[in-house]
Parts: sequence; structure tokens; C-alpha cells
Amino acid sequence: MAIVIDGKLISQQIQEELALEVKTIKTNGGKTPHLAAILVGNDGASETYVGAKVKACEKIGFKSTLVRLSQDTTEQELLYIIKGLNADADIDGYIVQLPLPKHINEQHIIEAVDPKKDVDGFHPQSVGRMALNLPTYLPATPYGIMQLLERYKIETVGKHCVVIGRSHIVGSPMSILMARNTNPGNCTVTMCHSRTANLKEFTLKADIIIVALGKPEFLTADMVKDGVVVIDVGITRVTSDSTKSGFKLLGDVKYDEVAAKSSFITPVPGGVGPMTIASLLVNTLKASKKEVYK
Ligand code: NAD
Repeated sequence: MAIVIDGKLISQQIQEELALEVKTIKTNGGKTPHLAAILVGNDGASETYVGAKVKACEKIGFKSTLVRLSQDTTEQELLYIIKGLNADADIDGYIVQLPLPKHINEQHIIEAVDPKKDVDGFHPQSVGRMALNLPTYLPATPYGIMQLLERYKIETVGKHCVVIGRSHIVGSPMSILMARNTNPGNCTVTMCHSRTANLKEFTLKADIIIVALGKPEFLTADMVKDGVVVIDVGITRVTSDSTKSGFKLLGDVKYDEVAAKSSFITPVPGGVGPMTIASLLVNTLKASKKEVYK
């Protein structure tokens, strides 16, 4: 039976470690880490995510600034705000919550963020440095997965890792990180996506499967071998008669049947999800301590 990877617990542990470190920094007269977040418009999910990030900052003793902008903010106006955050010496790192309204070009915005403050790790410079294994900010969700593998001491060297999904925020960076000469890492990686033929042929040979496609219960028991490590990134809200809210969250893995064949598995919710905020906070502390760019 699988060991269930408890992302909620690990995320809490990381946040407690960060809180202790911030306390020491403050006691020694050091700078309080400061994260800013820009939220454009009033998308419900984005509000929830940004709210959780700001709350987590406060809880561990970071400073946080939320810049709220209306839905009709122009690209020029947003670029002007970004210029201000780049120049503000008190702000160590910041994020621009995605998605942005359709009339704003996301790539222009991502590239306007000073890489030194790019704690989301989305700037092309950050992505390039990640690929080259140079010091940088790793994107939060993949970084969170790497921390789970590390803290659960999951052997990755020489293993065959199949990543399903090639998004810029999860699948692609995950495939790079698992192939790097690092620990965790050193896997032989197969990157699968919507145009992959015979996906099952690959998943059946995988020692580690990282699933990030956003299709509920996509990975089934007949697609995996015994002893596989399964990391489920998917989160989809579906209607449900069995919950008070009328909704429940499903991952990309048919959990019960796949868990029965796995050595390790992440649940949804409570697996990868809680790690994203923890990683963002780790990146912010690194920015504040000038660990990435001296
Ligand atoms: P996305 O929608 O940007 O990309 C989906 C990917 O899946 C694409 O690369 C596509 O090629 C691939 N795909 C689609 N159908 C496929 C198929 N039949 N076979 C193989 N590959 C297929 O996805 P994303 O932004 O990476 O998000 C994926 C899931 O992860 C979503 O459910 C999202 O909500 C979740 N997510 C969770 C977190 C978190 O836990 N913190 C963070 C980001 C995303």
C-alpha cells in the first residue's frame, strides 16, 4: 500500500522553519522579507490564491503588499506599476497573478519583471538559468514537488520519470528539473503531452509519474506498474452530491486504484497544492537574503 505524501504537513513545516528564520533575522536587525502581489480584475479563483499568499506572508512574519488594479487596467498602466516595483528597494520579490485580462499581453508583463525579483520564476532568464542549473528562482509548483521528493527521501537517480503535460508553469519545468544533475533529479525523463501517441506504453514503464493535465481521474491503474511513485498536480472542481458545498476537488489520478499499486502518492487535495505557497515564500526569503543574485 502506498505511502501518502502529506503536502499539507510539509508545507506547514517549511512555513514554521521560515518563521523561525525571519524571527532571527529581525532580532539581529536584518531586513524583513517583503513580497508584493499584483492582482488585476476580480477573478474569484485569483482573489482566493492571492489572498492565501498574502495571509501566509503575514503568518510567518514577512511584509506583504497587495496591489489591486481594476479589470480595465491597460498594459501600459500595468507596465508602469511593474517599473515602480522593480525600483522599490524595500520589495524583495513580487508576483503578477495570472491569468491577466485578455487585452494585456502576459508575455510582455512576465518579461518586464526584474529577474532579481522574479519569485514566480516565470521570466525567460529564470527559465534559462533553471535549465542551465544556475542559481535562480524555481517556479513554485515544480519547486514544491522537488521539496516533497526530497523530504520523503524518494530515490530519483537513474529512474524513468514520465511527465504528463507540458505547460510552462508545471509540466515543462518539471521535466527540466527531473533531468538535471541534482538530487532530486538525475532521472531519464519522458515528456508526454496531448499529441503523444500511445501514452500508456510510456506510463507503464515509468518509475515516477508526474501528472499535470487538468483532466480528472485521467491516470488509471491499468496505466501504471507496481511500485510507481505518483505525483498528482491536477486540481479540478467538480459538482458533488456528497459534500455540503456541492463541489469537490479531483486530481488527474484515479486515486484509490492507482494508490493500491503505488509506493508513494500525493492526494488531492493536500498533496502538491499546499506546497506552492511554501515555495513562493522560500523564494521570497532567498530574494531578501540576496541568495540568488548577490
Ligand atoms: P495546462 O492546461 O496549461 O496544460 C495541460 C497540459 O496537458 C498540456 O500541455 C497538454 O498537452 C496536456 N494534455 C492535455 N490532454 C492530454 C492527454 N490526453 N494526454 C497527455 N497530455 C495531455 O495545465 P497546467 O496549468 O499545467 O495545469 C494542469 C493541472 O494542474 C490543472 O488541473 C491545474 O489546476 C493544476 N495545477 C495545480 C497547481 C497546484 O497544485 N498548485 C498549480 C498549477 C496547476
